[in-house]
Amino acid sequence: MSSDAPVLKLYNTLTRAKEEFRPLDPANVRMYVCGPTVYDYAHIGNARPIIVFDVLFRLLRHLYGADHVTYVRNITDVDDKINARAAERGITIRELTEGTNKIFQEDVKALGCLEPSVQPRATEHIAEMIALIEKMIAAGHAYAADGHVLFDVPSMAEYGRLSRRPLDEMIAGARIDVAPYKRGDMDFVLWKPSKESEPGWDSPWGRGRPGWHLECSAMSWKHLGEVFDIHGGGIDLVFPHHENEIAQTRCAFGHEAMANYWMHNGFLQVEGEKMSKSLGNFVTINELLHTENFGGRKWPGSTIRWAMLSTQYRQPIDWTVERLEESEDELGGLAGLLEGTISRLGVPSQAFAAALADDLNTASAKTEVRRLEKIARTAASDIEKLEARESLAGCLALCGVELTEHFVKSTLGPDEKLFIDSAIEARNAARAAKNWAESDRIRDELAAMGVALKDNKDGTTTWEVKR
Ligand code: AMP
Ligand code: ZN
Repeated sequence: MSSDAPVLKLYNTLTRAKEEFRPLDPANVRMYVCGPTVYDYAHIGNARPIIVFDVLFRLLRHLYGADHVTYVRNITDVDDKINARAAERGITIRELTEGTNKIFQEDVKALGCLEPSVQPRATEHIAEMIALIEKMIAAGHAYAADGHVLFDVPSMAEYGRLSRRPLDEMIAGARIDVAPYKRGDMDFVLWKPSKESEPGWDSPWGRGRPGWHLECSAMSWKHLGEVFDIHGGGIDLVFPHHENEIAQTRCAFGHEAMANYWMHNGFLQVEGEKMSKSLGNFVTINELLHTENFGGRKWPGSTIRWAMLSTQYRQPIDWTVERLEESEDELGGLAGLLEGTISRLGVPSQAFAAALADDLNTASAKTEVRRLEKIARTAASDIEKLEARESLAGCLALCGVELTEHFVKSTLGPDEKLFIDSAIEARNAARAAKNWAESDRIRDELAAMGVALKDNKDGTTTWEVKR
């Protein structure tokens, strides 16, 4: 890391505090994020952790070097929802998960997300899952009963440390799922028997399949080791999923920790409620990108990404058409400023990198973008303007925002652009001198050419071509 790099601080759910990030090995920073269960299209709420942790992946690469970060995001391709959906559609499980995963990969690519270093599939890690269960049994933390294997929750003194839920609340929650083969109410399934019609693998406990929590413990172990740096996911995964992942991994290997930093994104909401499949209030990533179902138009992936980043990841975010429109306008303005004028990518400004390093404060990073944009438009010298533009390009690249889809003006010839730029400058001068008649005349002249001007909050002007 270079000496002027900002100090990375991350909010750790484990300690409920923002902490300085210290990787176990700076030469290989390791992060695991729970990925999708591939039975249906992902909704835009599911996109939140994907985008947020992609920004963190990019920031870690920026700070430690692209070759020194390993990011693992799994694909859950064995699950009861998958079995049910495949049966419903009369296709095989493999057909369903392959098809859904392909769309998921295309969707998140369109949102500007890099491919993680590894995207392991649960069905390809059954041997590791069985090995983990055997370790837990040998250490006295799991038991087999009636074709099942269960984790013995009371055997782990620190169970509940992540979620900090009172024991009676956890017991009450667990009672929903009572079963005769459980010794304790809170014990959870590591392995369960499969019917003939269900997917299953041979194991020392008969033909069966893994519990969901076990899948992540096995895949993170295989690709990141027994203890790693960061584990992420949505806030709803804290309990029971992450609590149980910790119980499994720690009890199998006997370490103090599974991961040192646990990060959770807040919910994406619609009118104050969590967006979810079960509530039926969802819009898919695919619909936003390719249909006119939300706000009556398609949205570029970068606009969706920029909208997602307008709120810091731990806060709830309301998903609205207005938010997308605002992002579209902001990126349109930046595209007008940067298109064709940036010959090389600048480095992101210190303030921008520092905002991201402060627990991914993307909202304050955006404020820095607006500051740079203002300099790029209004600085006294051309060199200052150019430096600000280069720096802006660097900032956008660091958070993964591509402006290509906003470069609508590339249909104009260079002379036309030059004319428009100088007309806007003249109009800004007229506005500064409060010569409203002249400023209106220029606006109308441009409108006649099909160029629509937009006066934004700072009074500066962006434009787009209406053709
Ligand atoms: P699921 O398919 O429900 O397992 O969710 C996959 C990922 O998306 C998990 O990390 C969830 O926490 C996250 N997630 C689901 N719904 C939302 C939402 N409305 N807002 C933010 N994250 C969500
Ligand atoms: Zn997981």
